Amino acid sequence: MSKGSFELSCISCKNNVCFTFKDLSELGVISCSECGKKYGFGEENLRRQLKKFATLCLNIQESEEILGNSGVALTVGADEVVIPFKILLTRLKSTLDLNLDGQRCHVCFRIEPTAL
Ligand SMILES: [Zn+2]
Repeated sequence: MSKGSFELSCISCKNNVCFTFKDLSELGVISCSECGKKYGFGEENLRRQLKKFATLCLNIQESEEILGNSGVALTVGADEVVIPFKILLTRLKSTLDLNLDGQRCHVCFRIEPTAL
């Protein structure tokens, strides 16, 4: 898990907090660089969810070439409508809702690591 990073909007100051999966496994706690608010990712369950989420996003990106040529067929009344996967993918938000220390938090995943 070297590609990509997570980003969450700080609940207190709205600053974007970036971290990688490596940060999570090594530290377990991510701090906001602006206000110092700490986000605990100590729970194994949370880390597992984030890892699955990142893997899913990376897999989707890697499969884009094939997905571009396939679709989902839906029957609407008497007609069959084919929706290309590409359209579905653009609608897929790479955001995960997590409950962190009792507060709702949106974590998004970026494939390209942000340059520091
Ligand atoms: Zn903050």
